[in-house]
Amino acid sequence: MTRLRLLTPSLLAAYSLTVALESGWIREREEMVANQVEARGVVDPKVIAAMRRVPRHLFVPPELRAFSYGDFPLPIGEGQTISQPYMVAVMTEALSLRPGDKVLEIGTGSGYQAAVLAEMVDQVYTIEILPSLAARADSILKELDYSNIAVKTGDGYVGWDEYAPFDAIIVTCAPPYVPEPLIEQLADSGRMVVPVGEEGEVQTLILMEKIEGEILQSPLLPCIFVPMRSRRITPKR
Ligand code: SAH
Repeated sequence: MTRLRLLTPSLLAAYSLTVALESGWIREREEMVANQVEARGVVDPKVIAAMRRVPRHLFVPPELRAFSYGDFPLPIGEGQTISQPYMVAVMTEALSLRPGDKVLEIGTGSGYQAAVLAEMVDQVYTIEILPSLAARADSILKELDYSNIAVKTGDGYVGWDEYAPFDAIIVTCAPPYVPEPLIEQLADSGRMVVPVGEEGEVQTLILMEKIEGEILQSPLLPCIFVPMRSRRITPKR
């Protein structure tokens, strides 16, 4: 009460407006999780809780913010996109994450997927090839206090040897084949999800599991991601 009396009427109005806007985003987020994620069969309670918590609208460019919780990917600049919420949920669930896991993401983009991962595990490493996107993601993740995410500008094709092996690897751009260094950097019993396919074609989201040195592969669903750009990828002949 004492504190409220210190607020001038205009400050109080601004405060009420902020609260109203924030509760609007929360409602949109709850609806997105219920209608796009749970309704389509995602069941991992940790994935659902993480997606209910991460403020997706803060990872979307201001002029598109009104569409943040829509059932589609959105442009984030430089010809890149933030993935559709359902795709984020499916990929995250497929990683069968445990709290102590160390996760590598290739394709930081907006930083949203990294934040969802960071809600669920100890440590997230994420690599983005475009410096401007890496810098923007790093700054919003810091603002939101995600101290368990390390962002690096670089070519994800080679992974991040320094912190390998990883319990899980998520690739959010599409390579024509799975880069060998990523398979090497996957821990034993580790899981990797990666959309594999040629640019401009429908790709297949693949789940790979390393079991006693052997790689098991299962196709999950068709998908369309931006291509993985790397000088190391041998062009199609
Ligand atoms: N996970 C992101 C979506 C990213 S879109 C999110 O939550 O917003 C895919 C990203 O992969 C793009 O930003 C693109 O620049 C990046 N990318 C493409 N090739 C790459 C490579 N070789 N290494 C790292 N990032 C790459």
